[in-house]
Amino acid sequence: MISHREKEKLYQFAREIILANGGEKQQIKAAEELGELQQEMLKAVDGRPDRDAIVEEFADVIVMLWQIRVMFGITRPEIEKWIDAKLYRTRKKFNLGL
Ligand SMILES: [Mg+2]
Repeated sequence: MISHREKEKLYQFAREIILANGGEKQQIKAAEELGELQQEMLKAVDGRPDRDAIVEEFADVIVMLWQIRVMFGITRPEIEKWIDAKLYRTRKKFNLGL
């Protein structure tokens, strides 16, 4: 996981870029970056994994996730609630023990 210092850096950058560029442009950018990681995943499934590209797009998505969080005021408890729910559901689905 990322350090507190990294989180602070991502949060500050998110605030700055949204103020500088506007929320709408950053929402479009978020969709683009998510699409780029999606393309890398599809290439990997297709037998053409490019680890360097995957790491780069993974980082891009983390940066954009923080911007999405700032733009929509998403709180840590909200995120944790959904993560817990998703993990519970998936563990149940695959009989991984609860
Ligand atoms: Mg990218």
